[in-house]
Amino acid sequence: MSSDQPASATQVLQEASRRRTFAVISHPDAGKSTLTEALALHAQAITSAGAVHGKSGRKGVTSDWMELEKERGISVTSAALQFGHRDHVMNLVDTPGHADFSEDTYRVLSAVDCAIMLVDAAKGLEEQTRKLFSVCRHRGVPVITFINKWDRRGRESLELLDDIQNVLEITPVPVVWPVGNAGNLRGLVEASNPEQMRRFTRVPGGTHKAEEEKLTADQAAEQEGEVWQTALEEMELVLSSGPGWDEEEFRAGRITPVFFGAALTNIGVGLLLDAVVDLAPAPGPRPLATTGSRPVESDFSGLVFKIQANMDPAHRDRIAFVRVCSGVFERGMSVTRAASGRSFATKYAHTVFGAERTVVDTSYPGDVVGLINATALRVGDTLYAGKKAEFPPLPAFAPEHFAVARPKDISRSKQFRKGISQLDEEGVVQVLVSDRRGDQAPVLAAVGPMQFDVVLHRMEHEFSSPIALDYLPYNIARVTDAEGAAVLGRSRLVTGEALTRRSDDVLLALFGDKWQMNSFVRSNPDVKLETLIATA
Ligand code: GDP
Repeated sequence: MSSDQPASATQVLQEASRRRTFAVISHPDAGKSTLTEALALHAQAITSAGAVHGKSGRKGVTSDWMELEKERGISVTSAALQFGHRDHVMNLVDTPGHADFSEDTYRVLSAVDCAIMLVDAAKGLEEQTRKLFSVCRHRGVPVITFINKWDRRGRESLELLDDIQNVLEITPVPVVWPVGNAGNLRGLVEASNPEQMRRFTRVPGGTHKAEEEKLTADQAAEQEGEVWQTALEEMELVLSSGPGWDEEEFRAGRITPVFFGAALTNIGVGLLLDAVVDLAPAPGPRPLATTGSRPVESDFSGLVFKIQANMDPAHRDRIAFVRVCSGVFERGMSVTRAASGRSFATKYAHTVFGAERTVVDTSYPGDVVGLINATALRVGDTLYAGKKAEFPPLPAFAPEHFAVARPKDISRSKQFRKGISQLDEEGVVQVLVSDRRGDQAPVLAAVGPMQFDVVLHRMEHEFSSPIALDYLPYNIARVTDAEGAAVLGRSRLVTGEALTRRSDDVLLALFGDKWQMNSFVRSNPDVKLETLIATA
């Protein structure tokens, strides 16, 4: 295609069909960074998914990705890693690594079409894995399971699968089975080809990649004996007692294909990547807020799933990460923000770092684009060109921690206001205005208390307005309406700043505990009190 010719619908469909956009969900330490690195080892033609460096001061995956970028010359945004595999374009979207659970992670999962659930063979289904899994279920994101660290002692394969079935209530369907217990990993056998064993030998020294050798079933039986037989029997047991592979069931979230391996030595990672290509859905039509959906081949549309400010201390920049949902994104094009109907040019996208790297000018559905200094954007925004599109709002999770923020230094109130509204737009915390206190003393609402630590730190270091937080005795938030607000305002059962307004004008009633809420409901059964999505 010459650059001055618009892409045809067929071309967009073709490009979309060879894209796979996915995230890895796991509990800290299960090996997400290691797996990311292992996946990147398979990377071929790498292009840039955006133009953005990782932000300073954040450890974990981002910094590892930065290292990867330097070492291997691949391009990484702090939001997505893009690489090629079997003529497909893989977009691995980063999920925030911090242990405290915040809404961030949920939003990221709205930008992917599939998730890899990474499980530590010794630890099984840990808390954050379970929570993230439930978000995938809620969002209808199909999940591929990778049981990691099989090179180390761990639990029994059948026991781990039972847990997946019983705890997550999703049926595991083995695609790859380990030959040898955890700690004695001899190789892998594929359910589709029980006549062959892939045997791995760890290479001493330098390289991470284990040597692979293919054995016939006879050779495997001869050389591995009982270990090989057991593997076949176990796999057969699971396969015969379960429903077997069914793409529909996978996409509906009722079954999860299971892989075993060791990210550290790159065992099983190639098969996992193949599975992402073969099993994970390509970008498809996305439901609109009203009715119907936006087909991938229509005009450009995208979803802002993450906003990050001040990633580079040298530039007061602000990056909005957009998942392309339909059409083609061309750098420089003019797009409209659905919420305001205002349009803006994206020509300054990438310029901050433009000199430092090559930038891809054209992105297709599934890709992630970093828009620089797109100051008017908020997390959850829809952007479009041509025919109007607006996607449903991202789910807001029920905050359970509340605190009033005030500037420590009154003379810095301008910085204070700027900082608080910036953090609100980024979605770091929800900012509520209580009827009682007004907007001079915003109430910050968080799902996890660590969000407050981020606010305290960033207000002091980025916005030069250190703040104090006065914690409030509320635990429950419910959405109400104007009528409800009036009743709440008169109620003696509800005190203090119990009626608040979110920046998107949603009214939230706050209660100290269930007892207080229930007694209010008994006296006022007609008041609207809708639950938000709970995280537990
Ligand atoms: P993250 O917190 O999920 O990103 O986890 P990391 O990738 O940092 O890994 C946590 C620890 O587990 C590190 O010490 C890794 O070297 C180790 N690890 C990751 N994958 C494997 C594996 O396949 N086998 C073994 N033995 N260790 C692993």
